[in-house]
Amino acid sequence: MTSIMNLTKIMEHYNTEDKCRAYLEELRWPGGPVCPTCGAKDTMRLGGREEVIRCKSCERQFTVKAGSIFNDSHLPLTKWFLATYILCASKKGVSALQLQGMLGIGGYKTAWYLCHRIREAMARANWGEPKLSGTIELDDTWIGGKALGMGHEHGRDNKTVVVGITERNGRLRMVVVPRLDSAEIAKAVRRYVSKDVEMIVSDEFAAYVPAVGPIFKKKYKRIKHAITYVEGNVHTNSIENRFSLLKRGIIGSWHKVSVKHLQRYLEEVSFRFSQRKNPALFSLTLLNLLSTDPLTFKALTRKRAA
Ligand SMILES: [Zn+2]
Repeated sequence: MTSIMNLTKIMEHYNTEDKCRAYLEELRWPGGPVCPTCGAKDTMRLGGREEVIRCKSCERQFTVKAGSIFNDSHLPLTKWFLATYILCASKKGVSALQLQGMLGIGGYKTAWYLCHRIREAMARANWGEPKLSGTIELDDTWIGGKALGMGHEHGRDNKTVVVGITERNGRLRMVVVPRLDSAEIAKAVRRYVSKDVEMIVSDEFAAYVPAVGPIFKKKYKRIKHAITYVEGNVHTNSIENRFSLLKRGIIGSWHKVSVKHLQRYLEEVSFRFSQRKNPALFSLTLLNLLSTDPLTFKALTRKRAA
């Protein structure tokens, strides 16, 4: 199903565990079930338990959730589907607390864990995309401080720096960097930007020149904000707008974003923005939930940043 989804359609089409499971199977195995252990296609259903598939070759049993982020989840698939839709459709993000209330999920921790697993799948979808191209804007922003409810966990000035890169009319990538220096900026640019861009623009912050200049030569333009904000098509207005979108999410919806999990929120905002015109956004997210490795609560809450 690739038609544009809305909440009513989700509730009509995916209102039982069986319907949700059947759709996940269709997405994961368009040509019928494949054994995740040995790759055999010769399988059978177990009588009475439709979701359990048995491999005729290695005789192992599995379900569509095997090895995916749904692995070991006790939450009904109907709630997974609704949560996925809500995260895809909420332009400014939605908090775990809101989602808990909307879906009637038992505990806050469960809702929080659910949100982060969906974000993890969105991150995977971002990684699977080709690098950014066309006209590119590059900028940085500081996230944190008391006003943003980020606590006092991150150094003396209590802020974290994010590098944002966007196609002027297209996709967005944002990355937490340990320091705003040329080496870190160059690393982000190499990772996210295709070499054959039309133009790449930053402001005049000194660290950008040695980071971006050698890669893009004459395609690299700088805007002198002290003098003017727009010089023809040399501006960074698009990336600044995307940063406001991120900040609206942090201030308006999430309230508290820990430094440790910030990258996952950045991936969510980038994914939703980049895919805003994709009518198959919901299915794409489900597909990435299926192809993302299990993320345990323990791994997610481990002290060291993942
Ligand atoms: Zn097998």
